[in-house]
Amino acid sequence: PDLKDEYILELLRWADGFRELGVYANADYPRDAKKARELGAEGIGLCRTEHMFFETDRLPHVQRMILARSDAERDEALAALLPFQREDFLGLFRTMDGQPVTIRLIDPPLHEFLPNHDGLLHDVTELETRLELLKGKPEAEGLEERLARKRRLLEAVESMRETNPMLGLRGVRLGIHLPALVRMQVRAIFEAACQCTRDGVRVFPKVMIPLIAHSNELHVEKELLEAEARAVMKEQGVKVAYQLGTMIEIPRAALTADQLAEEAEFFSFGTNDLTQTTYGISRDDAETGFLSEYLQKRILPENPFATLDQRGVGSLMELAVKLGRGARPKLNIGICGEHGGDPRTIAFCHRLGLDYVSCSPFRVPIARLAAAHAALRSET
Ligand code: PEP
Ligand code: MG
Repeated sequence: PDLKDEYILELLRWADGFRELGVYANADYPRDAKKARELGAEGIGLCRTEHMFFETDRLPHVQRMILARSDAERDEALAALLPFQREDFLGLFRTMDGQPVTIRLIDPPLHEFLPNHDGLLHDVTELETRLELLKGKPEAEGLEERLARKRRLLEAVESMRETNPMLGLRGVRLGIHLPALVRMQVRAIFEAACQCTRDGVRVFPKVMIPLIAHSNELHVEKELLEAEARAVMKEQGVKVAYQLGTMIEIPRAALTADQLAEEAEFFSFGTNDLTQTTYGISRDDAETGFLSEYLQKRILPENPFATLDQRGVGSLMELAVKLGRGARPKLNIGICGEHGGDPRTIAFCHRLGLDYVSCSPFRVPIARLAAAHAALRSET
């Protein structure tokens, strides 16, 4: 819609008076958050913190952290990353002043931050050949050092290779494997939140843990997180109200949502991973090659990544809402997978009694209308 058109703005304001679902946006940077607010978002439902790690000024520190050969080396790299992350969160909190900001701890497998394996192998082979040809000549000197560096990197990448990285060391598993990384992220969130509070900016951080399958994982990560949050608030002499929650994106999480709700104050459905794990179809391969051809055959009535499968994935969501609210009646529940901006999914979320949907900033106006539509339809 043309958001300069007075009629459209009036229609959206009118829709806001009817809808029961909150409309949040997925935003990783202050510029996205600003856009989201302009389009009427009432909070950030997902900040994928890993995106910040790919920025060119941080990537060398991230790689140093991954390749560190001692805790001291790792801590040094994490200390270099901390000010960047603090700035990231300061920007988000300031932009969203007074609205909730859901920050998800780092999710993807770490090898994604390292150079590609095949490219490295190619570089090593090429350097070896060139060195062989230049043997004994002065030009060989610098090349030897480069080769040694590339070999170290290749070795590290090979040691981290997994057959199924999307089912490997990612999400909460990564956090439990590298607690210092979680502590750095939590420190950055709370240092930024304390500073905002001192500056008169109202902050409401919601810290979210990805890829939880078992309540024990949530328990371990929560203790780590709360201890760091407490330590920062004590150092800074500021108290910040926050919430701690979990993504529901693995079928087991939905099936045991009552246990998770004992630890979590909010749930957010990650329907991208939940669809992948419910169907057993790789989300990364669904748009290309054999799997995309397969999905086009329409044996499955719809591409479940494009259209929420209300019967399968939706049943897991329904169960999670029922179990979760059974254990914690005030449990706050939303959705932040790609489906969260789709009007049919929004109508479904309304029927399930979710508190909010979160979608890309540009879909926020459509989501506001769809949420109102769903509320009006259920009245008639
Ligand atoms: C999801 O899985 O739906 C989700 C929002 O997380 P991501 O897409 O980052 O895995
Ligand atoms: Mg996910």
